[in-house]
Amino acid sequence: MTEQTNSGVKAAGWNFDNSYSRLPSSFFVRLSPVPVATPRLVILNRNLAETLGLNDDALRSPEGVETLAGNRLPPGSDPLAQAYAGHQFGHFTMLGDGRAILLGEQLTPRGERYDIQLKGSGQTPFSRAGDGRAPFGAMLREYLISEAMYALGIPTSRSLAVVTTGEPIYRETVLPGAILTRVAASHLRVGTFEYVAARCGREELQLLADYCISRHYPALESAANPYPALLEEIIIRQAALLVQWQLVGFIHGVMNTDNTALSGETIDYGPCAFLDAYEPATVFSSIDLHGRYAYANQPPIAQWNLARLAESLLPLIDPDPDRALAVAREKIAAFTTHFRHLQLTGWREKLGLFNAEDGDETLIEELLAGMQRLRADFTNTCRALADGANRPDPLFEDDDMVRWQARWQARLGRQAQSLAEAGKLMRSRNPAVIPRNHRVEEALAAAGQEDYQPLQRLLSVLARPYDDSPEQTPYRSPAPPSDQAYRTFCGT
Ligand code: AMP
Ligand code: MG
Repeated sequence: MTEQTNSGVKAAGWNFDNSYSRLPSSFFVRLSPVPVATPRLVILNRNLAETLGLNDDALRSPEGVETLAGNRLPPGSDPLAQAYAGHQFGHFTMLGDGRAILLGEQLTPRGERYDIQLKGSGQTPFSRAGDGRAPFGAMLREYLISEAMYALGIPTSRSLAVVTTGEPIYRETVLPGAILTRVAASHLRVGTFEYVAARCGREELQLLADYCISRHYPALESAANPYPALLEEIIIRQAALLVQWQLVGFIHGVMNTDNTALSGETIDYGPCAFLDAYEPATVFSSIDLHGRYAYANQPPIAQWNLARLAESLLPLIDPDPDRALAVAREKIAAFTTHFRHLQLTGWREKLGLFNAEDGDETLIEELLAGMQRLRADFTNTCRALADGANRPDPLFEDDDMVRWQARWQARLGRQAQSLAEAGKLMRSRNPAVIPRNHRVEEALAAAGQEDYQPLQRLLSVLARPYDDSPEQTPYRSPAPPSDQAYRTFCGT
């Protein structure tokens, strides 16, 4: 496979500058994607293409589709598989891109830098026993949920395209193969530091930390000792991300350290799903037998993951091991403070509150307790608060919740802002639509039969989750009772 200079490809607007490939060679293995039989474009993200400075028509052309399938390299790319390690369900493992290739970093017309990664692109030296491939359903699912997260305003990797490969892949059944073009601020993970700390020297560790700072935390470049500051900033961003997940009921499903991005974005959409009924113990993933990554466990697990990062950074934090450990411990402990503060702020906004009162935490806890007791639909109940009398929620037929509602309304009355302003704030914080599991499954099943309309409709509704338009109404209903024991499979 050679780099193409064909005008059709050039016109796509690729503008690579590959800083990661300039890092020490122990951080990656250079190799190209494994070509696939018959690539076919299923979906292309026009808005994202534009943001990236890429030409939609050129990407849709046969040459463009070959690029998105890994059969043809875009000009300026420097394909590689990244090395990383990770704690998977608590156990340390050497990993690496086993089924993904980083093509390079696209510089956008606005000067931003994004990783362009093909996921499902064939075997690499990190594939272990895996085939390096990805099923069509799982890649479409990642496309759909990552774009839904983006529209919700939550930091996330994004999805540029899905192409089918024309090749079967063998899991429990035979499935069609596909490749997702994933776009992310970077693919640096907690596991990247774990890998370098375990396998490389202090010098490489510092190079990686400097690289992470220059890419994601440039304000720290001038700091006297940037490494404790780096740890702190990563912790703050991770706390902010976790708060945002919790506020919309998102469950990641596989919060291993290799799936924790240092940019603070959500990455690696495997068996993730959104809460239906509010139940903190909810687990969707079929492989999460002990509920390690249950909804309520996500914040402490994020903190646990960050502790693995802190351990990796110890040699940079302070030359004295005891002092380094003390600094790291203090910063990790502060995760809880950051999380609680942001969570309280976030819930106040969901309840339309602009200021702080002492009783707010109790008010929030009582709402959540009521939702749990009555198995209220998390999304619809929150949105019903914003919609008020226009869309009453069954939760508020319960006597306790009627009393709660009166206390909340009295609380709204004690702030300077009008009820209209409170309503506006609430509608901007409580989505009307989320990717409900039964709707996602319906769209994926139709796409499997080459009917892409349900997928397109779902995507267009999810692109404006805070609106309340008539076409959204059918997407607001909770799953029928038959779907209540929803399970998601890695499908990897
Ligand atoms: P995940 O938990 O999906 O992020 O995957 C964990 C690790 O397994 C990563 O290093 C992946 O590259 C690798 N992996 C997952 N599926 C496959 C596959 N089909 N072939 C090779 N490697 C895989
Ligand atoms: Mg992963």
